[in-house]
Amino acid sequence: MALTAGESEALATALSGRVAGEVLAPSHPDFERARTVWNGCIDRRPVAIARCQSAADVAEVVGFTRDRGLPLAVRGGGHSLPGFSTCDGGIVLDLSPMRAVRVNPEARVARAQGGCRWRDYDAATHAHGLASTGGLISTTGIAGLTLGGGIGWLTRRYGLACDNLLRAEVVTASGDVLHASVTEHPDLFWGLRGGGGNFGVVTEFEFRVHPVSTVVAGLAIFSLDRSREVSHFYRDYAASLPDEFTTMLVFLTAPREEFVPSELRGQLAVAIVGCYCGQVDDANTVLAPLRALAPAVDLFEPMPYPDFQAMFDADLPAGDRYYFKGGFLPACSDAIVDVIQDFMARRPSPRSELDLHHMGGAVARVGDSDTAFADRAAAFTYNVLAIWSEPSGDEANRTWARAFAAELDRLGTGRGYVNFLSEVSGEGDLRGTYGDQRYRRLVELKRDFDPTNLFRLNQNVRP
Ligand SMILES: Cc1cc2nc3c(=O)[nH]c(=O)nc-3n(C[C@H](O)[C@H](O)[C@H](O)COP(=O)(O)OP(=O)(O)OC[C@H]3O[C@@H](n4cnc5c(N)ncnc54)[C@H](O)[C@@H]3O)c2cc1C
Repeated sequence: MALTAGESEALATALSGRVAGEVLAPSHPDFERARTVWNGCIDRRPVAIARCQSAADVAEVVGFTRDRGLPLAVRGGGHSLPGFSTCDGGIVLDLSPMRAVRVNPEARVARAQGGCRWRDYDAATHAHGLASTGGLISTTGIAGLTLGGGIGWLTRRYGLACDNLLRAEVVTASGDVLHASVTEHPDLFWGLRGGGGNFGVVTEFEFRVHPVSTVVAGLAIFSLDRSREVSHFYRDYAASLPDEFTTMLVFLTAPREEFVPSELRGQLAVAIVGCYCGQVDDANTVLAPLRALAPAVDLFEPMPYPDFQAMFDADLPAGDRYYFKGGFLPACSDAIVDVIQDFMARRPSPRSELDLHHMGGAVARVGDSDTAFADRAAAFTYNVLAIWSEPSGDEANRTWARAFAAELDRLGTGRGYVNFLSEVSGEGDLRGTYGDQRYRRLVELKRDFDPTNLFRLNQNVRP
């Protein structure tokens, strides 16, 4: 039953008496802004937003919400595509004030609070010439991205974001503060690496960091009439690449920018995008075959790693409308490229794109059952990104993305990537996403750590 305005106010007042951080009730001047999340399709009204400052605050909010039987939405960076980090009629546990990062360069370890975005983390580690795998853009939260797996620009060299996780501080549904690592609650540690936010609120992540400072990164764009030639090239090229070079094949609308030849601007095009994180001098050798293909645009150049991670931020602004689908593919076959070209040619929005992430490397060297991540053997992860601005485009864009993904999944490994899913239709779908065995293990873990399913606003594993 929905709370009255007075009841919401009373609830927020009661909660604010128990935490150091600010608690926003619907009457607060900042509430309307604070209730929004990154995906503009999501429009929900919580009864209060608790801006936590510490693990103790988090434990209070967890206990308060649990004891009143209210929905609980945990917010890290707010990028959840289905809007899991907000809710109707419940409490948002907002970690955004918790963005401190401490780097120990000697030990090659970075500790980051649960509300950090990758830009916070990268700035702190880059100051020491260090980095670990984050996402492709800098505004995503480290929490949701890492807990779901985490594909980024350093993936092939240093694994998924979750593969760099050494230890996590977790507030569980019972309000206990635990640590998870290979030696402390190893079962929980397994689930935190790919199982999403199902098991508790992570208040601090401890990552292994690596020497990464200047990278050679950018993109090469080709006209669409060369897509067959480029995809054939890419298939062999990707297979030959050293782990230092993480790349993806992208179908996108060529930007209307000076650096793009005029005949290509605004046209559907194919691009190879990548980040080389080894010796700068060696990058030219690795890039030579790509350059020999004579792209219409070649933007590969040396730059600080955080600059590349922020390069595409402006293409994915907060408040626009988004619907993503993602899964795993065994190859970059002609059949797959045909599907991509067909669907991209009839995309309802010119801003939509298709990313084909090259996997392998360090991702594939972690044992398949060592973490909850669904498919380490896949050669590629695809991501259909439907991006549009007006609510009138909702139906057409979602229908297109669903049909596109269904066709790709027919050719896929059968698994999905939880971080790229705008929806799963229930337990059956999530079981398929993870595979039977892995899903069963996640259910057992859920029963141990969250038997009443307090943490259910996520790709939910039911206890
Ligand atoms: C623009 C954009 C770019 C993206 N790029 C990439 C990419 O390059 N690589 C990739 O792998 N994925 C990418 N993603 C997907 C992204 O990983 C997921 O959307 C992820 O869940 C976002 O995490 P967040 O903390 O920002 O989101 P939130 O909306 O804050 O949270 C996402 C989920 O995690 C839970 N959660 C959040 N914080 C915590 C916490 N501290 N403890 C426990 N649970 C928590 C939430 O309850 C929710 O279920 C991208 C998404 C977007 C929108």
